[in-house]
Amino acid sequence: MSDITIGAHKSAAGGYAKACERVADIGGDCLQLFSSSPRTWASADLSEKEVDDFKQAKEKHGLDPVVFHAPYLINLADRDSTGEKSVKAMVNELNTADRCGIIGSVVHVGSYKTDDEKPEDKAHFKHLIENIQAVLDKSDNGANLYIENMGTRKIGKDIEQIARIIDDCGRPDRLKVCLDTCHMHAAGIDLSSDESYQDFFSEFDDVIGLDRLEVIHVNDSKDPHGSLRDRHENIGEGSIPESVFTNILTKKPTKDLPLIIETPGFDENGPDQKNLKQLRSLLH
Ligand SMILES: [Zn+2]
Ligand SMILES: [Zn+2]
Repeated sequence: MSDITIGAHKSAAGGYAKACERVADIGGDCLQLFSSSPRTWASADLSEKEVDDFKQAKEKHGLDPVVFHAPYLINLADRDSTGEKSVKAMVNELNTADRCGIIGSVVHVGSYKTDDEKPEDKAHFKHLIENIQAVLDKSDNGANLYIENMGTRKIGKDIEQIARIIDDCGRPDRLKVCLDTCHMHAAGIDLSSDESYQDFFSEFDDVIGLDRLEVIHVNDSKDPHGSLRDRHENIGEGSIPESVFTNILTKKPTKDLPLIIETPGFDENGPDQKNLKQLRSLLH
């Protein structure tokens, strides 16, 4: 048995405890789920019983960690009502996480309506920073906010942008990072050789700090390297070289982190056992 931690994003339909069962059924060690419907503004409002049921299921299946993925509607860079709703939704999400013993929420921080090439140059940047600070201030608890790197022109395409956000927020302890292999591939980041892998993570350590990297999304890609398109594909079926996955599974820092798949599934029903097996097979 290896000591790596591999899991999947699973549906929370029927309750968070159900999501625990679903990921355990496919052999996962850790879990990502939505706190509520990812395409609406409805926010989670759990009863004590639902929290207890989830905690019991998490314990029973030995899932560690469990993390939320924030709804896709979130845009913390928006200056209008969407920005306000995003702050509120993220505060509720982090409070729910804290109640449940969930480590936090992975978020796509957002995008601007025009010319996204250099979002850090925009006056909007200040607003993004204020919104992230508001989320952390108003959810005064132990749950983290994980900025996910993006594969498109959205904010967070490269680690310098993410570093700038963390720096301008004052480097709060609860602001962390999640890296997605499909998004890195789309953004033109190369992890396929030993050297490129080491170079990338040593730069990450310099500009952000490896102590902030806590979650890895492991997905293959339907799109070419550097294409700024980031459609997820099943492991081994896409355009990401196998050596990228082998590096992720066997090298520090990633091999020690929870590796979570968000693949379409070989039967199109989402992350499945076959994807986890494909990954584990690279360890031998
Ligand atoms: Zn994501
Ligand atoms: Zn992802």
